[in-house]
Amino acid sequence: MSEQQHIKASAATSLTSNGEGKKRIAVFGSTGSIGTQALDVIEANPTMFSAEVLTAHGNDELLVEQALKFNPNIVVIGDEKKYLKVKEALASTDIKVFAGAKALEETASMDCYDLMLAGIVGYAGLRPTLKAIESGKIIGLANKETLVVAGDIVMKKAVEHRVPIIPVDSEHSAIFQCLVGETRNKIEKIILTASGGPFLGRKPNYLVNVKREHALQHPNWSMGAKITIDSATLMNKGLEMIEAKWLFNLRPDQIQVVIHPQSIIHSMVQFEDGSIKAQMGLPDMKLPIQYAMGFPKRIANGFPRYDFRKVSNLSFEEPDIKTFRNLGLAIEALNKGGNLPAVMNAANEVAVYAFLKNKINFLDMTDAIEKAMQSISFIENPTLEEYFESDGEARNFVADLIKL
Ligand code: NDP
Ligand code: MG
Repeated sequence: MSEQQHIKASAATSLTSNGEGKKRIAVFGSTGSIGTQALDVIEANPTMFSAEVLTAHGNDELLVEQALKFNPNIVVIGDEKKYLKVKEALASTDIKVFAGAKALEETASMDCYDLMLAGIVGYAGLRPTLKAIESGKIIGLANKETLVVAGDIVMKKAVEHRVPIIPVDSEHSAIFQCLVGETRNKIEKIILTASGGPFLGRKPNYLVNVKREHALQHPNWSMGAKITIDSATLMNKGLEMIEAKWLFNLRPDQIQVVIHPQSIIHSMVQFEDGSIKAQMGLPDMKLPIQYAMGFPKRIANGFPRYDFRKVSNLSFEEPDIKTFRNLGLAIEALNKGGNLPAVMNAANEVAVYAFLKNKINFLDMTDAIEKAMQSISFIENPTLEEYFESDGEARNFVADLIKL
């Protein structure tokens, strides 16, 4: 049994809560797709959860609306220019208001909550999550970039501080659920399922003309803009392979991706005896969110159920890595390790941002990421500082390359 698995097992009995028996949740990124769904789960289960911390970056209006509804202890607005607006809007309450990136980290270290729902998008989620781990908080991890950038350091700290990291990403939640009760059994491999995104079956001559609006239409999931583009390029699945490596302590060759367009099987684990466990259900992010928040308890709900009698065509195929080259680049980063995943992630964040601003086309994203991966110096065993530096270097490199 790995140390993380030990922690998860002991967390089953030791999840802390306040005097009323409620688990106090800090929703980092409360205005996003994950954050708003986490608040839906809290609202639906008021005897189990309370929202103690809410954070946003630019969306002050929604943050204020959420604060007035959930009456948290603290709100943080990332964009400091919006501080006064939020402060004034909440002047009649006793909610504390902070602003800026440093305040996100400081709040993550505070005593007033039990579980961080890490729903900030991108590299910006890394530092607050590290602080939460250092403060012994349970992490419900949606922010996969945290593990892509500095997975070794994050997982080491989690073991040191005996902090359970419970995945929210649906594939990793599926694997986590398949592993409950299997702590003594070795994993032969995991099979990450991928919907294939809106351009499944398309070739480069089609992708070259794809526009932002088209790429933002995901067939099965409604998500934030960045992850929706990552799903269209298959970078999302690459990030998830790296995320899985760290979460479940796997070698790269134990991680397989299969395209499953219906998104009913959320992922699978194959054990040493060849037996395969799958976790299934209709695609709905509220399920993995509430599983992470309620773990080890499953929470009853009235969400629609999958009915095998109505739709039963589950299909599977190999990913087309020649067309969706981002997945190939991510596999290279997964195999080589070091600072390469951090470089790839930063380059991808800038490239996706540029694509969303209509500054580059769909296939230019891959070129920018590839060039950054070839150009930034490789570091085999980076320190946390070196991960931060590699992130900055890759961002500058891509911004220069595409003249942002
Ligand atoms: P969204 O873009 O919908 O939301 C992102 C959240 O992060 C918002 O609250 C946003 O604030 C905040 N934010 C953005 N930039 C910063 C910053 N620089 N500093 C602090 N906060 C910031 O993203 P999603 O909810 O879709 O995704 C969140 C994470 O969860 C990502 O890592 C994603 O990969 C992962 N994930 C998401 C899934 C989904 O279904 N959406 C599924 C699986 C994983 P504001 O809006 O106020 O600007
Ligand atoms: Mg996922």
